[in-house]
Amino acid sequence: TILVYYYDFLFKIVLIGNAGVGKTCLVRRFTQGLFPPGQGATIGVDFMIKTVEINGEKVKLQIWDTAGQERFRSITQSYYRSANALILTYDITCEESFRCLPEWLREIEQYASNKVITVLVGNKIDLAERREVSQQRAEEFSEAQDMYYLETSAKESDNVEKLFLDLACRLISEA
Ligand code: GDP
Ligand code: MG
Repeated sequence: TILVYYYDFLFKIVLIGNAGVGKTCLVRRFTQGLFPPGQGATIGVDFMIKTVEINGEKVKLQIWDTAGQERFRSITQSYYRSANALILTYDITCEESFRCLPEWLREIEQYASNKVITVLVGNKIDLAERREVSQQRAEEFSEAQDMYYLETSAKESDNVEKLFLDLACRLISEA
């Protein structure tokens, strides 16, 4: 018997953003349904695969996380190359992670394909009482940059599924 792992679409999705904003937790929540408490958030592999079904079509998502390179600003061209979508993540409780967004946008401009779809994600909405970046401010920023915007909680599993499924839908419609 030959098993054929068949799919209609394959997309490469890359997560970027400051260290500590929750990129690894978002990937782990979506691909494994887990939220790792405390330490141990580093997956240690280059990418995770999850296949989803959208309108009867099998969509294979290859999701790339940074294994800590973002701390050293050594994310290079190879990482962005061939990405169909980018999830640019900041932490709504960390002003600094929001203020770094223009730097990330410059990298995208420099390294990513000009057809890449970028989604801005404000993570950790379960920590609403510690919010430092208002939703309105983030929406204004994302609109000005022509990015789709979503707020998530990897911890509470809020909007995580929606993030990846909406992105897959957009990728199909622009494929
Ligand atoms: P990364 O460096 O961007 O990959 O961030 P991690 O995924 O390693 O998460 C950094 C820290 O934030 C860890 O202590 C996580 O437990 C925590 N974290 C990630 N997502 C959330 C979230 O949605 N809510 C809360 N409260 N903490 C989170
Ligand atoms: Mg990480």
